[in-house]
Amino acid sequence: MKNIVIAIDGFSSCGKSTMAKALARNIGYLYFDSGAMYRAVALYCMQNNMIQEGNIDIKALRSKISEIEITFQADPETKNSITFLNGVNVEHEIRSLEVSRFVSQVAAIDFVRTEMVDRQREMGKAKGIVMDGRDIGTTVFPQAEMKVFVTASAEVRAQRRYDELTARGDKANFQEILENVLQRDHIDQTREVSPLKKADDALLLDNSHMTREEQMVWLIEEFNKLTKEC
Ligand code: C5P
Repeated sequence: MKNIVIAIDGFSSCGKSTMAKALARNIGYLYFDSGAMYRAVALYCMQNNMIQEGNIDIKALRSKISEIEITFQADPETKNSITFLNGVNVEHEIRSLEVSRFVSQVAAIDFVRTEMVDRQREMGKAKGIVMDGRDIGTTVFPQAEMKVFVTASAEVRAQRRYDELTARGDKANFQEILENVLQRDHIDQTREVSPLKKADDALLLDNSHMTREEQMVWLIEEFNKLTKEC
């Protein structure tokens, strides 16, 4: 059976990463979290005083973008992917609400996207990968053999994010999270470069009322159908 590229795009907090990770594990593919890369760049800006009063210092970021090293390693125990920023494990920090507040602004900058897309294409060269994000099926891998666009209602997504943050012991406020989800949707859909939209040939998956198990059955069925055809 030929190895393929699987692109999973969709709105914030629809469980794309969890789903993509589980799918990759099930079919023996590598998983890449493109959002983690934009989150790492946002964290880099925060750590290097490149965000003043909510505004990003574009000039300073442009001069440093090619030097920002973002790598992934598998956690030896959980096998989950861990994100490293310039050699430091930042997996926990990049998931904070603070980073979530700035990430969409950072991800809307043209040279940030060009740099990240180049790096993502490099990762996909070997095929046999599942990558999730916002523009994977439209921009990064328009030729991906399997494309899925995931959506769920904003309230369901905010509740999932709330549960995730509280489960790891972080303070969380549902209303604040809902506002962040809606704000990120807006920025992602209206930005000039690679706005979030469903690719014409992507399969639509609304998981508002689906369990993880139901989703996996659906994904594996679609994967089997497609790889039989390849
Ligand atoms: O997937 P996650 O929510 O971690 O992504 C964080 C943010 O990074 C998104 O809200 C979006 O603004 C940006 N992003 C993007 N393109 C991608 C992946 C993420 O613009 N391929």
